[in-house]
Amino acid sequence: MPRPIEALIHADALAHNLAQVRARVPDARVWAVVKANAYGHGIERVFGALRGADGFALLDLAEAQALRALDWRGPILLLEGVFEPRDLELCSRLNLWHVVHCSQQIDWLAVHKTHQAHRVFLKMNSGMNRLGFAPAAFRSAWARLSALPQVDEVSLMTHFADADGAAGIAQQVASFVAATADLPGERSLSNSAAVLRHGAVATDWVRAGIALYGSAPDFPEQDIGHWQLQPAMTLRSRLIGLQQLQTGASVGYGSQFVAERAMRIGVVACGYADGYPRRTGDAGGSGAPVLVEGVRCRTVGRVSMDMLAVDLSPVPAAQLGSEVTLWGRGPHSSLLPIDEVAQAGGTIGYELMCALAPRVPVAVSPAD
Ligand SMILES: *Cc1c(COP(=O)(O)O)cnc(C)c1O
Repeated sequence: MPRPIEALIHADALAHNLAQVRARVPDARVWAVVKANAYGHGIERVFGALRGADGFALLDLAEAQALRALDWRGPILLLEGVFEPRDLELCSRLNLWHVVHCSQQIDWLAVHKTHQAHRVFLKMNSGMNRLGFAPAAFRSAWARLSALPQVDEVSLMTHFADADGAAGIAQQVASFVAATADLPGERSLSNSAAVLRHGAVATDWVRAGIALYGSAPDFPEQDIGHWQLQPAMTLRSRLIGLQQLQTGASVGYGSQFVAERAMRIGVVACGYADGYPRRTGDAGGSGAPVLVEGVRCRTVGRVSMDMLAVDLSPVPAAQLGSEVTLWGRGPHSSLLPIDEVAQAGGTIGYELMCALAPRVPVAVSPAD
């Protein structure tokens, strides 16, 4: 029997979350953002459930090739554009749309030989200060790009820094609108947080990532229940050990957790080498929520490479082999949002999904 840990990707949840995004921006087309191997879920695994999207957005040319190999004929957008001139050949061959965020990328396009003109998304830096042309430089970049025979249609795009927080998007929207008011072309502004919290902003294409995977971008202010999203990934394992602790006994490396009363401990086949956040049990960490047979418990002590420990007080019936849900869907309709585990580990749902370790076997459920 293999080690009992596994991840499940829920096709029904992905489709549900995509429908939730659509319902919030009914007039917009939706890019399903599948960068980082679909936020750790696997492009091949999510493709069936997300093929109702209007297009797929990602960064990596190999991931774009994987989508074309799955026979996706619709739009694919390279969110960071090309990294070197010869990437443009693949764009021509696979009909990839690409972001243009700096003048070097325009230089490369200007000398690119192609029979097929490219659809490009010209990116403005409206305040995030990562990629894009400053508002003052945007118009001349647009004019130069539009004049190229290699370019078919130019769309306009920007990315929000604070769509999930108190600062919001008003300033960046104002800066974008002021600099683009009389320019033609489709617009793409919103990420998941902007779709959920600021749905009304005028945009032809939204770029939804985290919401599709069932994590709230603005947790803990709101949770997935509030946004009616469902976890697309479950990480589950089983109890492989039981310990009866007497008062004063400790658990795990560094004896970080000391029992204040007699208690029963379960040892779970899951550790940081599976992608579980070690910080949940580090000095000062007060453990993380976990479900044992669907009952909410807490981890205790340090997380090891391959194991972690759980206080079984809330679930006296637990035994060797009991099912443990690290995040996602548990038995008896129980639920543990990944955001709660991420918070206990001092991180965000995005990072935990992306960090699911290659050694964890992954299955799609229901199988498609
Ligand atoms: C990753 C990314 C997104 C998606 O962001 P979420 O918060 O996951 O919805 C949108 N736009 C760009 C440019 C991105 O890099």
